[in-house]
Amino acid sequence: MIQTILEQAVEQALPAVELGEPASYIPELGKVDKRQLGVCVRTLDGGRFCAGDAQVRFSIQSISKVISLAAALERCGFETVFSQVGMEPSGDAFNSLVRLETSESCPSNPMINSGAITVDSYLVPVISFEEMLAFTRALCMDEDICLDERVYRSEMSNISRNRAIAYLLENKGVIRSDVERTLEFYVRMCSLSVTAESLAGFGLVLANSGVVPGTGRRLLKAETARVVKTIMLTCGMYDGSGCFAVRVGIPSKSGVGGGILSVADRRMGIGIFGPALDRKGNSVAGVKVLETISARMNLHIFADQA
Ligand code: GLU
Repeated sequence: MIQTILEQAVEQALPAVELGEPASYIPELGKVDKRQLGVCVRTLDGGRFCAGDAQVRFSIQSISKVISLAAALERCGFETVFSQVGMEPSGDAFNSLVRLETSESCPSNPMINSGAITVDSYLVPVISFEEMLAFTRALCMDEDICLDERVYRSEMSNISRNRAIAYLLENKGVIRSDVERTLEFYVRMCSLSVTAESLAGFGLVLANSGVVPGTGRRLLKAETARVVKTIMLTCGMYDGSGCFAVRVGIPSKSGVGGGILSVADRRMGIGIFGPALDRKGNSVAGVKVLETISARMNLHIFADQA
């Protein structure tokens, strides 16, 4: 039943790959074939279902912001993390500098670049990139996740905008760690290679409040999982988060590599790969797949349960 729904959802959404383009401001991402589309679902009772390009490796990009937020909540605590980063949707593009200059406030939330760079600045003194990689592999239940050196170098050569954000944040006293080390850490996290299946694994752990189903191993406190899922719901789909919440209603985080991580709480983790992006940076066909899945499996958080 789930398998059939996934196959039909991919088939129906496939023409939409023509409506978007891969991100090209990171040149290496622009080389990806935009006609790919895949989905994986992992359920709490041990089911694993894939359709389309679910095993193709791609760049995690902004979905790593969820991992950094989770690590910072675990290592540094809620009060520290949200002392300098807000919890509100920004309504601006993910790489916007606008509010940093015009308002007194800190970055609006940890899912946009300014917020994630700030969160990473807390992590730099307390955790190494190698530990973050091990943490990511455990969360995604995928030991093959690695740094994609080509994507890393490609983004580091086109880092001006994020560098501007980071130095502005340092100037405002929001970032206190070394700015260049923080940027390197941030870009490394964005350059990890995952599959739709890895994202489904991560979604499954979040759906199960931080515990790996089957083994019972706790990777995150229940409170961390709750905070992360809530921020994903309100801020995870760039400045399209409101529309996505109405139409799909599943806490999700997208990345400009074409991935989407989705969590149907207490039921399943969902991973999507579809590198053709809309103007906001969300996978065009991927969002369509999620719309179908949400409707057919009744996954909207406010679905009629009657
Ligand atoms: N590394 C990307 C950047 O900083 C992440 C963007 C994204 O996926 O939203 O621009």
